[in-house]
Amino acid sequence: MINLEKFKTLIFRLQEVYNAEKIHLSELDSAIGDGDHGVNMARGFDAVAAAWNAAPPADLAAAFKQVSMALIKTVGGASGPLYGTFFMKMGMVMGGKAEIGLDEWIDGVEKGIAGIAMMGKARRGDKTMIDAWEPALEALKAAKAAGKDLSGALADSAKAAEEGAAATIPLVAKKGRASYLGERSAGHQDPGATSAAFLLKAAAENL
Ligand code: ADP
Ligand code: MG
Repeated sequence: MINLEKFKTLIFRLQEVYNAEKIHLSELDSAIGDGDHGVNMARGFDAVAAAWNAAPPADLAAAFKQVSMALIKTVGGASGPLYGTFFMKMGMVMGGKAEIGLDEWIDGVEKGIAGIAMMGKARRGDKTMIDAWEPALEALKAAKAAGKDLSGALADSAKAAEEGAAATIPLVAKKGRASYLGERSAGHQDPGATSAAFLLKAAAENL
């Protein structure tokens, strides 16, 4: 089960992950964008951690909302509102719950992705973070159908997201800044799909 304590562990781990991967993610963004994605994500999760320390949330729903607000306020770029929307929509599933299991996690991730898709209008294959999120959701559902537990399902979703991010390399970007490059966007891994895969890897390791 996932409770507030575990979610806090994930959030503070993400601050470390995005600071450790800051240069890597910004290098990916330099190839097909403006080179700021790693800096954006590290700044965002520094703010998320600072907000948590300043006003520790009382429950899961409040925590997701606080994370969302901090990301929207500080990440900037295309990815800030998209990640912010993800946590906002996912948090709506948590209302009043002290802990959640695989069913709620799947429901939340699905609603979070729907929020990203509604805001960004990207579809699978457009070379965006959706190319990591959607395979991850499918893997969660497949794991549940196969009778796996939460940790097994999270591990499968992390693997699917990593593969989805790698599979963006040959794609031509159809959305976001990378789409301005047209065919020249092919041959590079999408930074947002990569940061989403890091999130799901951290979730598998910490939840
Ligand atoms: P910006 O492109 O504004 O500089 P970032 O560099 O922080 O913002 O984020 C870029 C990432 O955002 C891309 O790699 C892509 O994964 C994601 N992205 C951009 N536009 C969209 C969109 N419309 N839908 C989904 N994801 C998107
Ligand atoms: Mg950028």
